[in-house]
Amino acid sequence: MAGSTYDRRRTWRIDDVLDRTDLSVLLDELATSTNRTGSGRRWHCPLPDHDDHRASVTMYRDRRGHERWRCWSGGHRGDAVDLVMTVMGRERADAVDWLAGRAGMTPDAPLPAVRKKRTPRQATPAIVMDPAVANYVDACRRVIATRGGRQVREWLRGRGLTDETITANRIGADPGRSLMRRQRGLPFGAGTAATFPIFDPNGNLAYVQSRYLDADAAGRKYDNPAASLAPNPRLGFAVSTVELRDAPLLLCEGMPDALTAAQAGFQSVGLLGAHAPDEAVAARLANHLDGMGTGHGIVLVTDPDPAGRRVAETLGPLLTGLGHEPAVVTPPDDLDLNEWSRSDPDWSERLHDQIKGLDPAGRGSEELQPER
Ligand SMILES: [Zn+2]
Repeated sequence: MAGSTYDRRRTWRIDDVLDRTDLSVLLDELATSTNRTGSGRRWHCPLPDHDDHRASVTMYRDRRGHERWRCWSGGHRGDAVDLVMTVMGRERADAVDWLAGRAGMTPDAPLPAVRKKRTPRQATPAIVMDPAVANYVDACRRVIATRGGRQVREWLRGRGLTDETITANRIGADPGRSLMRRQRGLPFGAGTAATFPIFDPNGNLAYVQSRYLDADAAGRKYDNPAASLAPNPRLGFAVSTVELRDAPLLLCEGMPDALTAAQAGFQSVGLLGAHAPDEAVAARLANHLDGMGTGHGIVLVTDPDPAGRRVAETLGPLLTGLGHEPAVVTPPDDLDLNEWSRSDPDWSERLHDQIKGLDPAGRGSEELQPER
């Protein structure tokens, strides 16, 4: 360990440096993470000339136990040293030295202890919503009232949503990350997006979904907060600004459909995400129905596609097992509920008539209790 500093820094064993480097933390510092959770975290490709719309970098351990990253859309890959070389433009020895310094390794001093690395899959999901989510919702709500929110306002109006519905549901406009900075874990902001706040049954803000206006350009349709900021409630209760109908609760696929139904006087809840609903979703719906009083039925308004059928096929038996056998309605002509509402001025009366003619929960529809 004698000689100049320059010589010393060449004495680091790569393994010693890598053992003291948490690649997920380094990726957070040098690449852009997304909110992807569940099947592991993702980052956008750190290569400056690779503009991956979908975050395409994941982490894995090689056979020697070393953490490595790989960009699945561009074939780029490496370990922590490669990442530093790529992002910071350092030579290999320089990158190793930089990582060693970052890990608290100094020449002529004992090596710092190796800290046990948390694997990305072990990121602890939040139990309650982080205040950053509410701040994001408010910021986007302010934007939608300005000229910068005009595009989103017109997009929403084009889907038939009224200003009253937009205001009552605190829908906002995310102008994208180039115009609105945000902390890690919030919706990424790959482009202009409409923000749909998600409310629990009591009307408390619980979550938010950002819907990109140009899903192709953004590389995805929806962005959600990271699980570390807010648990995904899977259900969003739409706020209605009109007199409510005497009708069962409608479960719709996604918030735009749920808002469309709420605007027409139906009590409605949106099912979030592409995953099939599970026992937890069914239990929360059943609890809500129990609280609505006896005889309050539920109707699943499902899209005429395989995903819609899967919702009916999984949620139907689960709800039935919990004492709330649902009826199932599918909009006509291969339309989803929002499209139906825009193509047929009488859609809501037709839907209501259709529901009345159904026999949900094994009861005659005439047994449905009126609102009190
Ligand atoms: Zn790449």
